[in-house]
Amino acid sequence: MTGILQIKNLHLYYGESEALHGFDLNFNENEITALIGPSGCGKSTLLRCLNRMNDLRPNVTINGSFKFEGKDIYSPSIDLTELRKTIGMVFQQPNPFPFSVYDNVAYGLKLAGIKNKNKIDKIVEESLKEAAVWDEVKDNLNKSALSFSGGQQQRICIARVLAVKPKIILMDEPTSALDPISSSKIENTLVKLKKDFTIIMVTHNMQQASRISDKTAFLLNGDLIEYDSTQKMFVNP
Ligand code: ADP
Ligand code: ADP
Repeated sequence: MTGILQIKNLHLYYGESEALHGFDLNFNENEITALIGPSGCGKSTLLRCLNRMNDLRPNVTINGSFKFEGKDIYSPSIDLTELRKTIGMVFQQPNPFPFSVYDNVAYGLKLAGIKNKNKIDKIVEESLKEAAVWDEVKDNLNKSALSFSGGQQQRICIARVLAVKPKIILMDEPTSALDPISSSKIENTLVKLKKDFTIIMVTHNMQQASRISDKTAFLLNGDLIEYDSTQKMFVNP
């Protein structure tokens, strides 16, 4: 198996300082991969390479090869808006737009030029269901997303990403700003989503990695020091 997303010989520099020191990593389809390691080891930096969010920063130099379904995602012909729909991102702090729940989830669909209201309604509902927040918001779709709890907001943000039908979802500590109950709802949601999506998640929570991930990549000081099935990595022989 070659993997849906393959990285080869990745070096990343912030100015003169090398933050990622040259490693290969393959992500498999329909798996959850946890990126773990101490603070400052390069987890977020790596994650941001995967949908070219680092391009937004000055002084970043990236060397290496990145192939998504065989295509080079750093090729000049890549449309970044399309790339970031196909490889969506959920952040640590829930960041819904200051719009209604409905408009948050419909946002990408409207940008994509979909005008048919019934079609948009259907995708909004499906996405909120997939993100396991539909029952909590369905009677208040016109209320501001910001009026919901942090955990609900995060699931609304997940629905917003799902609505544009990504293949890969990147998550940067998606539960670390949330209470344990919200966090466990999101974990359950992610486990269900992996049948349709590939999930790559930064977490500093080892228990979380061992509960829900299939593969674990362990980074230390900008090196990938271990990559294996989570079960092998966390179960003592
Ligand atoms: P982690 O997500 O594992 O905490 P980061 O990817 O945020 O690690 O950081 C990796 C290293 O790169 C750290 O040494 C950090 O200080 C440095 N770094 C991160 N972002 C920047 C930046 N924008 N400019 C310069 N150095 C950065
Ligand atoms: P996290 O570990 O969640 O990425 P940090 O507190 O390490 O958060 O970093 C917060 C922000 O500051 C990030 O956007 C990161 O890229 C940036 N940053 C981190 N280290 C540096 C650095 N040495 N120089 C400039 N920016 C940095």
